[in-house]
Amino acid sequence: MTQGIDVLLKEQRVFPPPKEISEKAYIKSMAEYEAMYKRSVEDPEGFWAEVAEQNITWYKKWDKVLDYDFEKPYIKWFINGKLNASYNCLDRNLDSLRNKAALVWEADDGEVRTYTYWQLYREVNRFANVLKKLGIKKGDRVAVYLPMIPELPITMLACARIGAIHSVVFAGFSAQSLRDRINDCGAKLLITANQGVRGGRIVPLKANADQALEGTPSIEKVVVVKRTPNFVDMDPQRDFWWHDLINDPEISNYCEPEVMDAEDPLFILYTSGSTGKPKGVLHTTGGYMVYVNVTFKWVFDYKPEETFFCTADIGWVTGHSYIVYGPLSAGATSLMFEGVPTYPNPGRFWEIVEKHRVNIFYTAPTAIRALMREGEQWPYKYDLSSLRILGTVGEPINPEAWMWYYKHVGRERCPIVDTWWQTETGGFMITPLPGAMTLKPGSATRPFFGVVPRVLKEDGSPAGVNEGGYLVIEKPWPGMLRGTWGDPENKRIKEVYFSRFPGKYFTGDGARVDEDGDYWLMGRIDDVINVSGHRIGTAEVESALVAHPAVAEAAVVGFPHDIKGEGIYVYVVLKEGYEPSRDLEKLLISHIRHMIGPIATPDKIQFAGGLPKTRSGKIMRRILRKIASGAIEDLGDTSTLADPSVVEELVTGRK
Ligand code: ATP
Ligand code: MG
Repeated sequence: MTQGIDVLLKEQRVFPPPKEISEKAYIKSMAEYEAMYKRSVEDPEGFWAEVAEQNITWYKKWDKVLDYDFEKPYIKWFINGKLNASYNCLDRNLDSLRNKAALVWEADDGEVRTYTYWQLYREVNRFANVLKKLGIKKGDRVAVYLPMIPELPITMLACARIGAIHSVVFAGFSAQSLRDRINDCGAKLLITANQGVRGGRIVPLKANADQALEGTPSIEKVVVVKRTPNFVDMDPQRDFWWHDLINDPEISNYCEPEVMDAEDPLFILYTSGSTGKPKGVLHTTGGYMVYVNVTFKWVFDYKPEETFFCTADIGWVTGHSYIVYGPLSAGATSLMFEGVPTYPNPGRFWEIVEKHRVNIFYTAPTAIRALMREGEQWPYKYDLSSLRILGTVGEPINPEAWMWYYKHVGRERCPIVDTWWQTETGGFMITPLPGAMTLKPGSATRPFFGVVPRVLKEDGSPAGVNEGGYLVIEKPWPGMLRGTWGDPENKRIKEVYFSRFPGKYFTGDGARVDEDGDYWLMGRIDDVINVSGHRIGTAEVESALVAHPAVAEAAVVGFPHDIKGEGIYVYVVLKEGYEPSRDLEKLLISHIRHMIGPIATPDKIQFAGGLPKTRSGKIMRRILRKIASGAIEDLGDTSTLADPSVVEELVTGRK
């Protein structure tokens, strides 16, 4: 019995950085990366002081760069430094970028609204004054339940401007989920919309909010954006229209930014809930701003005049860090999209790329797989020649999905940055730098500057080359979580992140490092399957399945097995034009045996119409595990599930 995770698949394809990208990149070569990386881990305080000075504007410099103890744990960066996040995203850009587009918004129906830095600055200032008028002060929590409309980043920046802590709740969540999140942080104010619009459908946000607010004693007032012309109930004592408040002639155009300590909270945000109950992660101001700013610039190699399109919802950390705080603090043009990739047709993303001449495009494996399923003709209907760099985040990307993205979207010109990170990490942790790294489909390549990852075996000893194990981070980085709300002594984070391997941050993910020092994420530790003493990660078996032409998506879980301990249960979603059959099942089994070996032979294959996913689009294997083992009465926390009807279908079709 091995102590780590067995390595089943080895990807051999390599893609060196294109010369035209390297020549102009911030980090131009592996040698440059290695030298900077070495410095960043040998002298983290010197390295980060320089980055913080060059990239962020401070009212007052820090006394000390870093103070931490991973045993307790506590983490402090830029001690006694003073700054304001909204100032860094707006005010300081006005001199040179006043008339540059800060936000380009494309609505579900194709309408476009553009905010220059000046216009965004003005809106944020006015709304910050509205917040003050509503009684919001530094340190108060503001819950935000808004769809992907410009008022969402405006609200976040207005909160940051006055030192209020925002807690954004994804607009696809139910009333109950919203209520729990409001109560967890004791928010005084809720910002929502009458309705949302997504994929041609109406989302009843205000009605959900009303239901949530039946059990939220802390909420005093509600601000409602009028996204659609439709009528909704308004409580005259409690509810106010955004447009009435912001157009009030008494509201002034300028709001002095609050001087925030580097360690003052910036926001609270819940994790996606893939592994269980979501965790309310707390990020502070200084370290987070430094980290998202510089990861954005260097990893996407952002150049002035480029348009950056991140398809994530701002309700997730990806949107916080790489639609709002990273790009805007870097003076970028950030495109936000209200809709979904398949509406009105599966060419929507590419239509947006063509229409706005997008240069950098960042999405998730779930979206790529969904678009692959629709066929490669879609990206060819549009002019994608503006694209320079592509990115992915959220799950391990199956090498075949990577290749599809590389070929049909990037036309073999654009490096793909496969960014591994978490809500808790604030920004990218393991990621290619597009001008320096040689890419391998499915590998997130190397740690970002200052990040010290290790792969450990069960007993805490280091795993060898190409040995799968537990991914931990040994040293603090500026963007890391400081705790969770309501737990000032950090008991909760100690238990969740710092106990499995004392003194180290445990990520919950499995990984291996190959002979070149590149990292490969192997899926979640909770999802590892133990077959006759072999510990199998989910990512590789799923990737092998997705490499078969009939398979659009696959999920692999274990189930109790008399002889092997655990058997392998496979859920398969087929591509358009393929039908489930006993023959196809046999074909897939022999395909796996051929690609991986007999050890990964599936015991059961279930064809499915869809897989259970979090609302951020990740496969929820814990639910699939329950279904496979027959424990269908107790599915655990399903509040973060995107489409409950998928589960019913899977239960009915259980093998
Ligand atoms: P919860 O912590 O509530 O279970 P979650 O982990 O899905 O939810 P997020 O913080 O949104 O919440 O996701 C982070 C996780 O997503 C990582 O731990 C990892 O499992 C996965 N992930 C993100 N990016 C990548 C990537 N590029 N490659 C592989 N896995 C990734
Ligand atoms: Mg997690």
